[in-house]
Amino acid sequence: MKVLVATEKPFASTAVNGIRKEIEGAGHELVLLEKYTDVQQLLDAVKDADAMIVRSDKVTPAVLDAAKQLKIVVRAGAGYDSIDTAYAKTKGVVVENTPGQNSNAVAELVFGLLVYAVRNFFNGKSGTELMGKKLGILAFGNVGRNVARVAKGFGMDVYAYDAFCPANVIEEAGVHSIADQVELFKTCDVISLHIPATPETKGSINYALVNQMKKGGILINTARKEVINEPELLKLLSDRDDLKFVTDIKPDADAEFCKFEGRYFSTPKKMGAQTAEANNNAGIAAAKQINAFFKDGCTKFQVNK
Ligand code: NAD
Repeated sequence: MKVLVATEKPFASTAVNGIRKEIEGAGHELVLLEKYTDVQQLLDAVKDADAMIVRSDKVTPAVLDAAKQLKIVVRAGAGYDSIDTAYAKTKGVVVENTPGQNSNAVAELVFGLLVYAVRNFFNGKSGTELMGKKLGILAFGNVGRNVARVAKGFGMDVYAYDAFCPANVIEEAGVHSIADQVELFKTCDVISLHIPATPETKGSINYALVNQMKKGGILINTARKEVINEPELLKLLSDRDDLKFVTDIKPDADAEFCKFEGRYFSTPKKMGAQTAEANNNAGIAAAKQINAFFKDGCTKFQVNK
């Protein structure tokens, strides 16, 4: 089988070596399309691919139509909103992600951002500590659980709300389960977002919700920019000068947010999963999933069932 690794933003070379070892070790052929600058290059490369590994690359209907032999696409990472999963389903193409492989990397970044925020972005003025503060985790998935684990090391009091994860699973992790989202925002000093971008969550982090936060609240987004209602959050930051917003996903209105100097920070580009370990883990997991799919028909991580 021909396995295409199509990455506009390539994997680290150690990850590529690991992927190659897995794919070729299983008797398949590996083809690399890295740093492509034109979608036509991708359309040409997918023509005879049986499987594809992507990162944040867009897998559109045009790509799926061009990929006549494609049977499986694996997104090396957690979020798969860059892939038209419904269209893939109509074409009989299995779409998978590699959940959990970069969760620790994202969780560690949350605390990098958080320490930066509570120490006033290192402006030389006295800040606050995290110990004893209430952290609210919005969505207790792979990243949320890792954030909870690290938060305990800081001595934080940890709360979580998840629309689908049962309360007992949250409680068993030593985290207070909160039954609704608004209550989480009301209760906590810091809210860390870990929801996927879905029709329900897009734009859901809005004025009314964030305004529930206590004085001095900090909102951290390492999930997806689409979940933020940017015009409403800008208005809220303007109405309340006690709130801070730190993010790993630069908002479309970054220039507007930058006006809130000392209360806003964005990483220059999404860095949550940018560690050697996460890169390696996700790439190799993707290769293993493709091998399992061709060997046994395994679709354990399929997201478009
Ligand atoms: P996950 O699938 O493991 O967990 C998502 C959780 O969200 C699940 O527990 C699910 O029950 C919950 N959920 C879904 N809809 C919800 C809703 N409407 N309200 C409340 N909870 C809801 O995903 P993950 O690996 O933890 O990733 C979480 C987010 O982080 C995703 O948006 C992902 O794209 C993003 N992410 C960002 C980076 C980065 O580089 N910054 C890296 C990895 C993941």
